[in-house]
Amino acid sequence: MSLHLAQNCCLPDDSNNFMPYIDLHVHSTASDGTFAPREVARLAREAGLSGWALTDHDTVGGLTDAADESLRQGIDFIAGIEISAQSPTPGTMHILGYGIDPQSKVLREMTATLREGRDSRNPKIIAKLQELGVSITMDELMQEATGGAPELRNKPIGRPHIATILVRKGYVSSVPEAFNKYLAPGGLAYFDKERLSPRDALSMILQSGGLPVLAHPVQLKTRDDEQLRQIVGELAEQGLRGIEVIHSDHTPVQTEFYKHLAHEYELLITGGSDFHGSSKKGISIGLAAGRRIPREYFDALNEQIEAAHVAH
Ligand code: AMP
Ligand code: ZN
Ligand code: FE
Ligand code: FE
Repeated sequence: MSLHLAQNCCLPDDSNNFMPYIDLHVHSTASDGTFAPREVARLAREAGLSGWALTDHDTVGGLTDAADESLRQGIDFIAGIEISAQSPTPGTMHILGYGIDPQSKVLREMTATLREGRDSRNPKIIAKLQELGVSITMDELMQEATGGAPELRNKPIGRPHIATILVRKGYVSSVPEAFNKYLAPGGLAYFDKERLSPRDALSMILQSGGLPVLAHPVQLKTRDDEQLRQIVGELAEQGLRGIEVIHSDHTPVQTEFYKHLAHEYELLITGGSDFHGSSKKGISIGLAAGRRIPREYFDALNEQIEAAHVAH
């Protein structure tokens, strides 16, 4: 089954009822979101979206359910993933991969390697927290991330899961506070995880049949616009195909600059909310800092995915 798009979907009447908004950056319980992939598909439909992409961190585990439920709901779907790469800047570099083949050997090997990186980091964070007098165990973390579901045993477990436990136990009052105090760089229990180089992240997405897109450029924390222009130029030479211009962390001025950069390097423009459910408060599916994401972003991306698959 091709997962990148729920084919032959269609809303009751394309000409009159067509809903012109979409969301291309969404997380589920397959990584650190709090709604299951099928629930997210239903939320997307309820929010009036006509298409969406699931982009869980380091895993394709939610894509089959998300694609199947999207088909039932009559909304279009693109299979995605979000990968962390080593950034030349003080911030973080995330690369989205759209239209990937979840069965691809390269992709399965890559996600296994990334999971090993997490498996070695999480016990270090937990041990450090224990040293600091926080009551938390690896078993609790596993329970928090999987809810005890055996099929989620191998999912990527991340800092938001730890943050949620710290909030529940009253060590901090919010997830952002848990990051500031303990989990973010400079925090008391911060450990980095193994990351791919940007070149490898792009290459693995391309080899898996996907199109790489630079996620939320604001999070790179570049010195200035010129440094971002240079980074985008280098990534474009290495196979980058798009920039996420609309995102919950972007101001309208930033969005316009990112669009300009995309135009300069002949890249696609995409947009998404980065919805995580309750592990990232204040974000609704389909809304990025109050902005909606136009359907044309979905169509242009999908057209390029199809073209890449034909060329393969
Ligand atoms: P990890 O996968 O463990 O590296 O954690 C990445 C996740 O943590 C992403 O979903 C981010 O949205 C979230 N995150 C990273 N930094 C922060 C922060 N300072 N406050 C809240 N959430 C954060
Ligand atoms: Zn996340
Ligand atoms: Fe991200
Ligand atoms: Fe994300």
